Amino acid sequence: MQALENLEIGVMFWAGGDPRETLRGVKEFGVRCGQLGIPGDMDLSGAAAAWKEALEEEQFTIVTVFAAYQGEDYADIPTVQRTVGWIPNATRSDREVRTLAVSDFAAGIGAPGIATHIGFVPEDKTDPDYVAVRDMVRRVCDHAAGHGQTLALETGQEPANVLLEFFKDVGRANLRINFDPANMILYGTGDPIEALGVLAPHVVSVHCKDGDWPPKDVAGALGTEQPLGKGAVGIPRYIAKLKEIGYTGPLSIEREVPDQEQRRRDVQGAVELLRGLR
Ligand code: MG
Repeated sequence: MQALENLEIGVMFWAGGDPRETLRGVKEFGVRCGQLGIPGDMDLSGAAAAWKEALEEEQFTIVTVFAAYQGEDYADIPTVQRTVGWIPNATRSDREVRTLAVSDFAAGIGAPGIATHIGFVPEDKTDPDYVAVRDMVRRVCDHAAGHGQTLALETGQEPANVLLEFFKDVGRANLRINFDPANMILYGTGDPIEALGVLAPHVVSVHCKDGDWPPKDVAGALGTEQPLGKGAVGIPRYIAKLKEIGYTGPLSIEREVPDQEQRRRDVQGAVELLRGLR
């Protein structure tokens, strides 16, 4: 795959359709790298070969493969706690099998890392869910290490210091962070720029996403995602902080909005904003 520039602009996008058409659509933003999300219900048999061929033909680099799972729902904080990631007990073992399959898919397309939301990690280290998820993180890290991959946890659902403690306890060198500044705001977790400073040594990849804080008068509500530069993150200070900590990897724009035309406009606007800041 091609060498990337420092702080090269990329896009987070999802697999599902024809790989070549999907890549051509992403390239219309003027980018040549990105992060590929794998929906929980996508059939992975034969998928890596088709993606590898399309990536070579389109000269496109995937820096991270994201695993999502069937049954996840981001409606509000209690729903996220009940359905997202590796914390929910009922789906945990199926999701472990799926994550290993996504790691194998990532190896098949030559991606250097995988990532996922593991869900809300309890702070109490004796909590059975904490112990089970910590052990699962170790097993997935070890499988990923066999492919020379990192496993990145998406930030946002726990404060930086809780995540740091969890990292120490897991004790795996290939466990890293995909830093998402907007999630810290959407979940009301803490100031993302401060958190980035604390988590810096573990950050392998980042999202460029923006959002507003949750409404104070609605219990369990999430904040609202906004087009890049229009939310509470402060994108110029975010990019400045990334430079300050010595981050040189891609800047992957993430924009989740149901209206595809709005998404296209917002991603294009984000590309232009980041061109001026990087
Ligand atoms: Mg994100």
